[in-house]
Amino acid sequence: MSRNYFSRKRYLVTGGAGFVGSHLIDRLLEEGHEVLCVDNLFTGSKENIAHHLGNPRFEFMRHDICFPLFVEVDAIYNLACPASPIHYQYDPVQTLKVSVVGSINMLGLAKRLRCPILQASTSEVYGDPKVHPQTEDYWGNVNPIGLRSCYDEGKRCAETLFSDYRRQHELNTKLARIFNTYGPRMHPADGRVVSNFAMQALRGDDITIYGDGSQTRSFCYVADLVDGLMRLMESPPEFAGPVNLGNPVEFTIAELGELMIEMTGSKSKLIYEPLPSDDPTQRKPDITLAKDKLCWEPTVALRDGLEKTIPFFRGLL
Ligand code: NAD
Ligand code: UDP
Repeated sequence: MSRNYFSRKRYLVTGGAGFVGSHLIDRLLEEGHEVLCVDNLFTGSKENIAHHLGNPRFEFMRHDICFPLFVEVDAIYNLACPASPIHYQYDPVQTLKVSVVGSINMLGLAKRLRCPILQASTSEVYGDPKVHPQTEDYWGNVNPIGLRSCYDEGKRCAETLFSDYRRQHELNTKLARIFNTYGPRMHPADGRVVSNFAMQALRGDDITIYGDGSQTRSFCYVADLVDGLMRLMESPPEFAGPVNLGNPVEFTIAELGELMIEMTGSKSKLIYEPLPSDDPTQRKPDITLAKDKLCWEPTVALRDGLEKTIPFFRGLL
């Protein structure tokens, strides 16, 4: 889409070289906007954005958002944060810093620029939920001192910061609680269930089910998520969220394993390994609020999304 000087916006996407961020950047550029991608490449990769290098509307800056950033933009998507348990537990203190110090820096930037800022929050703020499906008014059941706490409590603190900057400084803040998302450009070694199962099935290795496989997740295809994030950013300033963005169709992890074997035509077998600590037993978003406020709901079924995702993993082998 071509835009003129007046309708074109300049977006900052932190974490833009990561899985979700790179798809968001694709869409923003497709819509004719300008993008400044800021990423320290901890889990992201230049390959995810290489196809935009040379586009005059795209700029990449290698920077850690735990340090102040002085740039001029019209809106900020704050996605910088390692998202998979393996990655965020590798350096838990840094994980907390990116959610807390990084958010303060990005909120400070938004305050100076008086521009909207969206935070990629997470379903992990609900912890191991006692309410099912999870609605936004549920306060969660989170262990503050466990192995996942650096991520969960960091994201919860970021939500507090966003809410206080809104109240205290009248900022236009947006909180998206993202549920499990998958698609091409997921890191093949991030340990997440879709990437693990896809790589294992394609290599003919055993599929590692943690626990008995009865825990549930609902999987959202990345294009659907990006659409939800963009709708949230463009929603009226009065609407801050938090709003759940995820696919409400729930699967057990064992079902996902079976489906992956079937769709890859693999001879892999399911094997059972111990469940990691604090692993939520069930998770499924209630998306009534997103439907109501953003007219958003996912359109890509798991099978269709996996059909687009499996070739990406196959291409890596
Ligand atoms: P990802 O790891 O692929 O992307 C995160 C990006 O942030 C990477 O490119 C990484 O290099 C960058 N980054 C990390 N620390 C940084 C720092 N200090 N400064 C600058 N850049 C930094 O993860 P993703 O799946 O694309 O997740 C994106 C966002 O969405 C994260 O905030 C994550 O918490 C959130 N989220 C994702 C999911 C999901 O299922 N993918 C679910 C819930 C929430
Ligand atoms: N999981 C699994 N085998 C794997 C990787 C993950 O059984 O090889 C399980 C994991 O224990 C969890 C679910 O799949 O119950 C989703 O894990 P993921 O790390 O993708 O996301 P999260 O736990 O953060 O929702």
